[in-house]
Amino acid sequence: METRIGKRLIIIAIDGPAASGKSTTARIVAGKLGYTYIDTGAMYRAVTLKVLRSGMLDELRRDAGLVAGLLGDTVVEFRGDRVYLDGEDVSEAIRENSVSREVSFVSSLKPVRDRLLELQQKMGAARGVVMDGRDIGTVVFPDAEIKIFLVADPHERAKRRHAELAGKVGSAATPTVEELEEEIRQRDRDDEQRTHAPLKRHPEAAVVDTSLLTIDEQVARVYDLAMNVLEG
Ligand code: C5P
Repeated sequence: METRIGKRLIIIAIDGPAASGKSTTARIVAGKLGYTYIDTGAMYRAVTLKVLRSGMLDELRRDAGLVAGLLGDTVVEFRGDRVYLDGEDVSEAIRENSVSREVSFVSSLKPVRDRLLELQQKMGAARGVVMDGRDIGTVVFPDAEIKIFLVADPHERAKRRHAELAGKVGSAATPTVEELEEEIRQRDRDDEQRTHAPLKRHPEAAVVDTSLLTIDEQVARVYDLAMNVLEG
């Protein structure tokens, strides 16, 4: 691709808590470099949607092993910036609050992580990807040339999520900023405290606090780091 800088292809891993600006930053940086953007949170959300639709959530809480049967031949893939679950475009459905509330539980299950880890490593095998999530720098691609840990003040993150949801579903159907902040804090705690691949900063990851940064500034920080590696 002409837009690629240099001959070398690298992996940019962007991790961090919910609504810290990962996907916006990752998507734009990928576009600027001519790289593929992979939103691993969308993959965990798609599997969560499948669990919710199966009606097996409560059973899984009692016996997590049952998820293996459900995962069976599950296919999660990206076509452009759309996410497909078993051939169906679920890009909107996976953003619903019902999914957000249960995704940390489903993501904590070992068989789910093993399956998505394998898929993610395949997707990034040729390098030239920007991948965002919770465990990309620590587990999926610990050899990523660039590792970023994006953080932001929880209240600021809740305000951003609120504005995003209000734009989509209208303010009447949107939870309050306080409710969203509580949900975000709870999800961060669950993601940090789980046994398998918890959310944590890789010791080499550069911390970028986006609380007071514009999107352009966030993108510039990550892009500049990438250019240093690619041109260095
Ligand atoms: O990025 P997003 O907020 O959409 O991710 C939804 C959830 O998916 C996270 O809260 C986390 O529980 C799970 N996740 C994960 N590992 C990743 C990406 C997301 O466990 N690499």
